Amino acid sequence: MVKTVVIKPKVDINKVNTHILPVDFEYYEPRTLRELVELLDKLGPSAKILAGGTDLLVQIKQRAVEPKYVVNIKKVRELDFIEDRGDYLAIGAVTRLRAIEKNSLIAEKFTALHEAVRAMAGVQIRNMATIGGNLCNASPAADTAPPLMVFDAELKIVGPGYEKVIPITQFFKGPKKTVLKYNEVLAEIRIPYPKPPTGSAFIKIARTAMDLAKVNVAVALRVDEDDYIRWIRVTLGSVAPTPVRARSVEEELIDKRFSEEIVRKASRLVVNDISPITDIRSTAEYRREVSKVIVRDALLIAYKRVRGV
Ligand SMILES: Cc1cc2nc3c(=O)[nH]c(=O)nc-3n(C[C@H](O)[C@H](O)[C@H](O)COP(=O)(O)OP(=O)(O)OC[C@H]3O[C@@H](n4cnc5c(N)ncnc54)[C@H](O)[C@@H]3O)c2cc1C
Repeated sequence: MVKTVVIKPKVDINKVNTHILPVDFEYYEPRTLRELVELLDKLGPSAKILAGGTDLLVQIKQRAVEPKYVVNIKKVRELDFIEDRGDYLAIGAVTRLRAIEKNSLIAEKFTALHEAVRAMAGVQIRNMATIGGNLCNASPAADTAPPLMVFDAELKIVGPGYEKVIPITQFFKGPKKTVLKYNEVLAEIRIPYPKPPTGSAFIKIARTAMDLAKVNVAVALRVDEDDYIRWIRVTLGSVAPTPVRARSVEEELIDKRFSEEIVRKASRLVVNDISPITDIRSTAEYRREVSKVIVRDALLIAYKRVRGV
């Protein structure tokens, strides 16, 4: 099960695009969840979990991460599934984004998640990348986080000899930081089915199709027969250290009668909930302004979906 990789590069691989990883590590491939957590516990904090590797391998190449041990979890078959469990849909952490994108139940019931996954990278990356990796990498721009937050998803975390389920809102602690301990693994994502008729939508603004979001937003809402909004969630990414709920917008709209006018006014309040920065992808000013626009647009799309128009 163990393979030692020794690499002595002759070129500066930080400057040349190669497949070489500049770090020596021991490599493990556990086959069961139990074996995995016991191994993580034994190896300690210098071990790193590898799923699709589309974030981790880039980080190793840049020497941002230099693990002593790499534990590939893709051979743990019990973490790879999409399962209807009656009240909720369960997705295993190593399920590839491509499988989520192709799942018709997700497209129908959790449209915002389907749209988010479809907007991520290209097909090659989506064939490798996992949903668990996207969450555990904890980028403020992670595209699956806002839709999972609007659907009130829960995360099953497994450690040596125990498991627990937490709301996704408690998972992110800051850029690249989650509540996971070194010997814990994200095992599955549970998404409760929203009460019908619920509509949802996801919008992402990015520099190119292959790039992370400058801003992304997911919304979900339910209206009654008289068009009063009875349930609403608005969540944005890339505008704060973690994905954030736009509670000002939600509070402004709950129990109000849906209209384009009221949605436009409420969407402007999103600036109270976000704290964007200027970085290589965008400016704080642009992020603030475009957030108002995409919150409004996403709410209008979600409403049309509730009404089936
Ligand atoms: C060209 C390119 C384009 C991209 N475009 C997008 C985009 O549009 N939107 C977007 O959000 N992301 C994008 N990404 C980032 C990346 O593809 C995603 O974040 C992806 O979902 C990561 O999943 P992975 O399985 O490859 O994770 P990995 O790289 O294997 O792991 C990521 C991190 O999570 C940890 N980890 C993984 N699984 C678990 C687990 N089950 N439990 C505990 N820890 C775990 C790893 O230790 C590592 O720290 C892009 C990346 C590339 C290279």
